[in-house]
Amino acid sequence: MPTPRLEPILSAVFGFSAFRPHQKELVSAILENRDVFAVMPTGGGKSLCYQLPACVRGGVGVVVSPLISLMKDQVDAANANGIPSVTLNSALSEKERADAYRLVRRGNVRLVYVSPERFNSPGFTEYLKTLPPSFFAVDEAHCISEWGHDFRPDYLSLGMMTREFAGVPVAAFTATATPRVAEDIVERLGLRDPFRVRASFNRANLTYRVIPKEDLGRQLLDFLREREGEPGIVYRTTRKSVEATTSLLRRHGINARPYHAGMTDAERTRSQEDFRHDRCQVVVATIAFGMGIDKPNVRFVAHGDLPKNLEGYYQETGRAGRDGEPARCVLFHNNGDIAQLLRFNAAVGDPVAREAAQAQLNDMIAFARADRCRRAALLEYFGEAYPEPACGGCDICLGEAEREDATVAAQKALSAMIRTGNRFGANHIADILVGADTEKIRKYRHNELPTHGVGRDRDKTYWRRVIEALVVKGLAATGDSRYPIPAVTDRGWRVLRGEEGFRMLRAAEGKRSAGRGEAAPAAKPYDRNLFARLRQLRTRLAEEKGLPPYMIFADRALRDMARLLPGNERELLAVSGVGAYKLQIYGGVFLREIGLYKKALARGAESSGK
Ligand code: ADP
Ligand code: ZN
Repeated sequence: MPTPRLEPILSAVFGFSAFRPHQKELVSAILENRDVFAVMPTGGGKSLCYQLPACVRGGVGVVVSPLISLMKDQVDAANANGIPSVTLNSALSEKERADAYRLVRRGNVRLVYVSPERFNSPGFTEYLKTLPPSFFAVDEAHCISEWGHDFRPDYLSLGMMTREFAGVPVAAFTATATPRVAEDIVERLGLRDPFRVRASFNRANLTYRVIPKEDLGRQLLDFLREREGEPGIVYRTTRKSVEATTSLLRRHGINARPYHAGMTDAERTRSQEDFRHDRCQVVVATIAFGMGIDKPNVRFVAHGDLPKNLEGYYQETGRAGRDGEPARCVLFHNNGDIAQLLRFNAAVGDPVAREAAQAQLNDMIAFARADRCRRAALLEYFGEAYPEPACGGCDICLGEAEREDATVAAQKALSAMIRTGNRFGANHIADILVGADTEKIRKYRHNELPTHGVGRDRDKTYWRRVIEALVVKGLAATGDSRYPIPAVTDRGWRVLRGEEGFRMLRAAEGKRSAGRGEAAPAAKPYDRNLFARLRQLRTRLAEEKGLPPYMIFADRALRDMARLLPGNERELLAVSGVGAYKLQIYGGVFLREIGLYKKALARGAESSGK
């Protein structure tokens, strides 16, 4: 069968005007009966790669997906675009399952979503042979690899696809694949000379900012004040801090919900569902939150503490902006976070695991402190070179991260280290510099040192940062001890002797930097009042149908409507995310709402013109 032109189908079914990178090639390969293997980041648009072939081909495509909670969403989303789909998993009642099988038998279904357990159950292969599937798709394919982080033994049975179904293409997708895991996937699935794609992991619509944490509560409130009503996630490390931040936000009128392992399943589900259904604006969560979240319109991810490692940080920030619209990632951190993580790592019993955790933490710290493009650093960590000299979407490239000459400050801090024999931690050194009167200072008679109080003009936070920067730039070294003790290096001595200067990132002391600057391309101007009304309409419809609002229309679609003010079906089809099916179901109500709004506007203009 010659491959049909795909763009018209993309636009008619999904309402999208262009493919995302690699989508078209992947769809074409599947339609040409080739196996494919695609490594694409979150938000890359993997599901479309098998949903579109399902529309074009006759028969039924079989999709294996590991999370039953997400499966329902995936099926709802496919059905919402008019692609008839069902699930087969253990969560179904006897009747639901019988109904699903009947629909498949009658040929009324294009996609069947199957859990790996069901796939591995006795007799399932024989059942599949009676269909047989027009193609297989494997979502989260890294679950087949013991080297991956989500190994699922049942995934091993998926090798049956290629062994038992000679002419049926298998398409495997994952967002996390080190080369080792990638090879493992190809081998275990037995992919036959697959068409391979490794997409860039750059998330161009995300901006990255790293901000010294001074007063997190105030900093978060400032940040949120500028993103009124925008859905977002705040990550914190402990249950206690999740609770504290949630109450703080709620006290300030922000509709926030907590999420952590100390809550009951029911409580957690409620927080997650409230978030998915736009019934709350913010979820404050530990990293337990996220696996089951595919909400596309998360507009920001804020980390209130330094994450343990960069993989985690990338995964968590990756939950922002899956819909491709601009979204922000801000990371607040300070020395206290680092000390806490160090203590945590030190308590790891197994020495190999401990060392691995420590190495990962060091990479994370280096990322947070380094004076270089965040995007380039992040991509480099995943083995990808970022070709641009500046990304235009991080605090460094936007010039928000200011630098200052800190030679004199460096000299003061270095000499305090030397005077105390390079034997004290950053906190104590900072105390000496500000001239503090602590028990420890009196005990060691450090109040008698000439350096005691030489840094009185700045606060302790500042001095801790100076010391941090000295360590990053190699003017002082902390070694591997459990409590980092900075000791002056040869380079430090050169600065002390005035042979070399020292510059460091200036922190935004008392300055609001998290909220400034629109780095990612700003959304085009649109009528915000109409947008708000359309959102209300969407919420109403979603409640009627028991769907999350984003499955009715994405934010982007509503914004487009509020910009283009479509007056008829043809104009509405020009809106991104409006395909033939959604037009048929929702077109009328949305056109009516827009019409009413336009009339009210016209009346308003008339009366004010008098
Ligand atoms: P992934 O599974 O790779 O994380 P999804 O398949 O969930 O990504 O897609 C992420 C979002 O991008 C969804 O909201 C989807 O509708 C949207 N999307 C996918 N392909 C396109 C496209 N070609 N144009 C516009 N939006 C798209
Ligand atoms: Zn940058």
